Amino acid sequence: MADLGGPAAVSNKAPDRKASRFPLRLDQMGSGRPAASRDNLLLRPQAPLQAAERDRKAIMAPQGLGLDSVHVRMRMVDRLKADGLQNPRVLAAFARVPRHLFVDTALVNQAYEDTSLPIGLGQTISKPSVVGAMIALLCARPGLGADATRPLGMCLEIGTGCGYQAALLADLARQVISIERLRDLHLKARHNLDAVRRQLPGSPDVRLVYGDGMLGHAPSAPYDTIIAAAGGRSLPQAWLDQLAPGGRLVAPMDDGRGLGQVLTVVDRHLDGRLQQTSSGAVLFVPLKSGIT
Ligand code: SAH
Repeated sequence: MADLGGPAAVSNKAPDRKASRFPLRLDQMGSGRPAASRDNLLLRPQAPLQAAERDRKAIMAPQGLGLDSVHVRMRMVDRLKADGLQNPRVLAAFARVPRHLFVDTALVNQAYEDTSLPIGLGQTISKPSVVGAMIALLCARPGLGADATRPLGMCLEIGTGCGYQAALLADLARQVISIERLRDLHLKARHNLDAVRRQLPGSPDVRLVYGDGMLGHAPSAPYDTIIAAAGGRSLPQAWLDQLAPGGRLVAPMDDGRGLGQVLTVVDRHLDGRLQQTSSGAVLFVPLKSGIT
């Protein structure tokens, strides 16, 4: 921020006999005078004011969001980075999408903490660090071609919830199809994404579908990336069928050995072969069939 002077404007230096003569000649004022640069600044109060206005415009950014939300969002991004999230595109998506627009008013002050939050109907918006880790895994898919600006390609999300993750994915995908089985949440996500579109230039290209995500979404298949925000006992066959060669699926799944949910990664190699690996333990809401 620009230094606006403040109490330091009152000089406590010994009086300068030469400078105290009155009246001063014109060439003794301003830059003609061999005074410290701070004194020069004091003679030109418009300079710090202009700098402050420049700072304000830079911080307000084109979204037109409030000063505070931009600051706290950037702090969240810094924390994610410090905790090991390295992909610059994923970090940029977190910096861009206003998470506070996706949570209830009463929870807005927690919107930029690394915590999951209730979004109604017993569901939760996932922790930013977990969402970031999952999206970064998708971005590292083996079949990623030259179009690194849209590393997620054609993306399917199962479990729209409030729509926050869908908005992040949209920043990195050619198109996102997001499915939700609870009608009220599907409508809520629609409302939230409309609010984001009003604030962010370049609206997120998300197609919201009300339906059972366990069936995937055949009309737009195959998908380069598939991400599930709810965990089941086993991977639905439809997801595997709809995964493109070179594509990657990331989903929380029961590890089958009583250890609970683990993050499961499935790659479809270019020859069609599927390869499954799993990373750390996670805790997601259950994947359920049917719609409500
Ligand atoms: N990504 C979401 C997190 C939502 S929580 C967000 O950013 O808010 C998981 C969501 O998955 C819940 O809304 C739940 O209703 C939904 N879900 C569970 N099973 C599903 C299924 N079979 N099809 C579609 N959505 C499902």
